[in-house]
Amino acid sequence: MSEHNQTSTPKRPIHAPQHQFPVQHGELCIGDITITRLAQRVGQTPFYAYDRQLVTASIQDLLLAFEGKVELHYAVKANPFPALVSHIAPQIDGFDVASAQELKIALDAGMPVTRISFAGPGKRKEELTQAVAAGILLHIESFREAHLLAEISNTLGLPARVAVRVNPDFELKSSGMKMGGGAKPFGVDAEQVPALLETIHTLGLEFEGFHLFAGSQNLRAEAIIEAQQLSYALALKLAAHAPRPVLSLNLGGGFGIPYFPGETELDTDPIITNLLELAERTKQELPQARLAIELGRYLVGEAGVYVCRVLDRKESRGQVFLITDGGMHHHLAASGNLGQVIRKNYPVMIANRADATDKETVSITGPLCTPLDILAERMELPCAQPGDLITVLQSGAYGASASPQDFLSHPHVVEVLV
Ligand SMILES: *Cc1c(COP(=O)(O)O)cnc(C)c1O
Repeated sequence: MSEHNQTSTPKRPIHAPQHQFPVQHGELCIGDITITRLAQRVGQTPFYAYDRQLVTASIQDLLLAFEGKVELHYAVKANPFPALVSHIAPQIDGFDVASAQELKIALDAGMPVTRISFAGPGKRKEELTQAVAAGILLHIESFREAHLLAEISNTLGLPARVAVRVNPDFELKSSGMKMGGGAKPFGVDAEQVPALLETIHTLGLEFEGFHLFAGSQNLRAEAIIEAQQLSYALALKLAAHAPRPVLSLNLGGGFGIPYFPGETELDTDPIITNLLELAERTKQELPQARLAIELGRYLVGEAGVYVCRVLDRKESRGQVFLITDGGMHHHLAASGNLGQVIRKNYPVMIANRADATDKETVSITGPLCTPLDILAERMELPCAQPGDLITVLQSGAYGASASPQDFLSHPHVVEVLV
């Protein structure tokens, strides 16, 4: 269908072009391999591919800017694919894990235990025991955890290393997901922290510092700076109640990446300037403390794509549908069902026809028998046929591991690092 016939449907805004992957001979290239060749190499669709050079570049840019004064941690939950985590391990200052399985992946990747921390609102006794046995830093998120850790420390004859995850008394403005401030299941309310520090002292746990995480997917530098300043001030105030000097102060992150029409890249320069100022203050005010931030999607999100193949092409009452072998069971976020209020399109390409000029308005849906299985809704794309390769960009974080892969019992997705 041509564009002229589309006057009855409102025109959807078109995506800002993504520039991280080059186009050669009309094909999108991931890690210097054309998408058709990569699909042949993987041996199947659908798959996720992560570009190791792009991940390295995003890490190195920040490390260089931090001048060794601020530590950079990777939040493994954003993408726990073992090959990717192993690629990141030797490049970064630490890993933040959120389950025993993520801890295993971090340890397998060779990250030293002194540089792994474990946060999460509900930790099982078994997980806490594994973490103490490993010797990693535990972010305490309740009084129950403090008591359990004391018990485990006694049993193992190993003192638990702990930091307190603080639920701050402020909120991160314009955050995609708020994870601190107000009533939250995460961390311990700032007002209760002095009592928790007293408990930690009484129980003989090894207190090492504070962790604050206000929220994620933020594209406004001023909001992130404000959250970091307020987090720092709060930690400083709470440090006065600490049983020992603060050794580590993790200020969270929340750096977003653009997914939707109209969104633009986060300007990290002012955030870096602010962090370097806070590092300077840390030297004076908490002289034994290392200042850290933790990032997930910002480090890996733009380096990944999800690739699936057109199985069928149908017209239904004037609308064209491309039906693919992949969808929401592999990529819940792109389907709009992972925390989106109003469904918006991720950037999508017909990657083996990257510079085609014949365009049409299509919807791309998956093989699942549910109207939720959408990859693109009325997007203008090159005309595609069965066999063509649909690629969803900005898919390196919260993809495979954040999707209901067993829903409708289709095959699981494959992941590769290129
Ligand atoms: C999820 C999470 C992150 C990572 O968030 P991104 O938006 O991927 O950067 C960092 N810290 C904590 C505590 C988290 O729960």
